[in-house]
Amino acid sequence: MANPAPKPNHKRRVPKQKNRTRITNKVRREVLRRSEGKCERCGRTSAYAFEMAHLQQASKGGLGNDPANIVLLCGPSVNTGTCHNFADYTAEGRAWRMKKREELERYYGK
Ligand SMILES: [Zn+2]
Repeated sequence: MANPAPKPNHKRRVPKQKNRTRITNKVRREVLRRSEGKCERCGRTSAYAFEMAHLQQASKGGLGNDPANIVLLCGPSVNTGTCHNFADYTAEGRAWRMKKREELERYYGK
C-alpha cells in the first residue's frame, strides 16, 4: 500500500447531534429538583409514567444538556391525553413548548 493517509488523532470538537440532544444526568437531576417530581404542565404528582421531554425537539437539534430545554411531563408520550403526548404530537402542544421554553430561559436568567 502506497503511503496511506494517517488517521487524524484529534478528538471531535463539535459533538455529534445525538450526543448534544441526549439528556445528561446533570440535567435530569436539575429538572427533578425544579419540578419536584410533578408534571410541569398539569402539576400531577402521580401518573402511569413521568418522562423527560425536549422543548425544542431532539430531531430539531434541541439540546439535552440545557435544563431550559427539558421538562418533566406525565406520559407515556404514546398515550393520548398525557402531557407528553400533547406536547409532542399536537399543534397546541408545540405552542406550549415554545412558551415554556421562554419561561425557563427567564428562570435561568438567559
Ligand atoms: Zn401532565
